[in-house]
Amino acid sequence: MKKFSKIIIANWKMQMDSEESIALAVKLVKLLAKNNIGKKEIVVCPSFLALSEVAKILKPSRISLGAQDTFYQEEGAFTGEVSPENLKEIGCQYVIVGHSERRAMGETDKLINKKFLAVLKEKMLPIICVGETLAERKSGQSEKVILRQINKATLGISKNQNFILAYEPVWSISTSNSGQVISVLEASKMISLIKINLSKKFTNFSLIYGGSVDKKSIVNFAKIKGVKGFLVGGASLKAKSFVELIKNL
Ligand code: PEP
Repeated sequence: MKKFSKIIIANWKMQMDSEESIALAVKLVKLLAKNNIGKKEIVVCPSFLALSEVAKILKPSRISLGAQDTFYQEEGAFTGEVSPENLKEIGCQYVIVGHSERRAMGETDKLINKKFLAVLKEKMLPIICVGETLAERKSGQSEKVILRQINKATLGISKNQNFILAYEPVWSISTSNSGQVISVLEASKMISLIKINLSKKFTNFSLIYGGSVDKKSIVNFAKIKGVKGFLVGGASLKAKSFVELIKNL
């Protein structure tokens, strides 16, 4: 498993078709080759449809490939699903699991736990997402919700297992236009709670933050103690400004 000082994971969601994804991957590879970004680990997570073409473009580069989701079974009659084995075969080293946009479509803690275990079985690095909704935050439930999500997602995971956990307050995702973004102080309180909790059971995890981070705000979010990197959606869709964001970390 790769060691990294800092990590930036681009989640392209369902924002582009294959042609656009290929074009963005080509631009990113070229730009990153021209810029000195040290040893930072860069991961790109295209849609399932674009994975194999983007994989070919990234292969000779320093950028790693990730998937936005997976199923937990290895093979079988599971219409519409994609197995971790297939993702591994195509070149994925990382898999996002339990993104809030998937939880909102009905993914349960139990399903997320199964996916977490399945990704590990294929020796890829899972990026487990946790985060509270605005209603949960307003009713003082944030900590309880996050700890429940973490405890249920990590059932059966061994102490020294390597994984990434992303704290992503749901109400701060894709909200840069409305300005509804968590403060660095609030984010840092949650990250520290998560770190204390995870450290009781695990020795080999990395904590990252996600939620409307852009090339400017990353400078302040990067000051949060214990944050090893970022999961970036909207701000990863334009090669030039994404590279600036990377340089600012
Ligand atoms: C995400 O998709 O996990 C995310 C953080 O998106 P955005 O940066 O657009 O808020």
